[in-house]
Amino acid sequence: MSEKTDIKSMNLETLTKFLTDMGEKKFRAKQIYEWLHLRQVESFEEMTNLSKTLREQLDKKCRIVSLKKEQVQISKIDGTRKYLFLLEDGNVIESVLMKYKHGNSVCISSQVGCRMGCRFCASTLDGLERGLTPSEMLDQIYQIGKDIGERISNVVVMGTGEPLDNYDNLLKFIELLTDENGLHISQRNLTVSTCGIVPRIRELADQKLSITLALSLHASSQKKRLELMPVANKYEIHEVIDACRYYFEKTGRRVTFEYSLVGGVNDSDRDAKELTDLIHDMNCHVNLIPVNPIKERDYVQSNAEVIEAFKEKLERNGITVTVRRELGRDIDGACGQLRRKYKENRM
Ligand code: SAH
Repeated sequence: MSEKTDIKSMNLETLTKFLTDMGEKKFRAKQIYEWLHLRQVESFEEMTNLSKTLREQLDKKCRIVSLKKEQVQISKIDGTRKYLFLLEDGNVIESVLMKYKHGNSVCISSQVGCRMGCRFCASTLDGLERGLTPSEMLDQIYQIGKDIGERISNVVVMGTGEPLDNYDNLLKFIELLTDENGLHISQRNLTVSTCGIVPRIRELADQKLSITLALSLHASSQKKRLELMPVANKYEIHEVIDACRYYFEKTGRRVTFEYSLVGGVNDSDRDAKELTDLIHDMNCHVNLIPVNPIKERDYVQSNAEVIEAFKEKLERNGITVTVRRELGRDIDGACGQLRRKYKENRM
């Protein structure tokens, strides 16, 4: 990757220092910041309220990270769009646009690949390449906004990668995305999903942001969680739950538990009962996801009656539950599938 400074990953304060160090006036930083994060231009050339000399100087020192739209697949069923973006170093990542009544929601990737090894997930099959920079996370949203010509109101960090395994960049990204001088997406409209890296959940809680934490639970006992998620070797299920309680205490934000229902693996009556016992006293919400089968593994979806019974069992115990509507089934909707297919074809 080029040695030039990644100017799009700088917050306004850092950018101001950068410019004053170059002998420029402070207000220039604000102008440039607006070009980058509001008008979202992709070259210094376009920053027409700066002198030509300054534009040339900036161009020598800095690069403006912009993702290249390599492929878009649009679902005929529900309008969901799945994007494949090319990064400067030749890697590709996926992002998804989902259209809801309440607005446009973008699901972004936080890493190229992933090293968490969840058994049902396609993103992790080839391991981790690298974490994304704040600018690469941001630009997924910028590019999609430009592509559809509409405002993006919600962002979920639920694509490829483990966001808490790229923690510092994630925090910078959140700061830029929610900054009033930029796109200004409300913290409440941002969700970060994690497989449960306990110390990071606690650190994030201490930041006292208003973002939603989604915890990929997928099992109600340590034994079963271990079968699906290697990260459970490191952090025991009760430690993870305690970290979620801490998150709620510190932020007042209700935690979402994601539970992918895998036929015959974690969808029995007993699983529902254990799950209830585990979380019934928490201020939380359960999102049941019918597992999206990937060809590399033989996991299957639970059938509709089983899903309904599981849901009712939780609800009878006072837990709020939603079953995730499957979007983009016809366009390789599951995490990492599109990127994988692209890479296979390219090889
Ligand atoms: N690493 C983070 C975020 C990325 S995965 C995390 O683990 O939460 C986003 C969500 O999709 C997680 O809940 C993950 O477990 C789930 N997921 C991944 N592959 C899936 C599949 N094939 N079917 C259903 N859910 C899947």
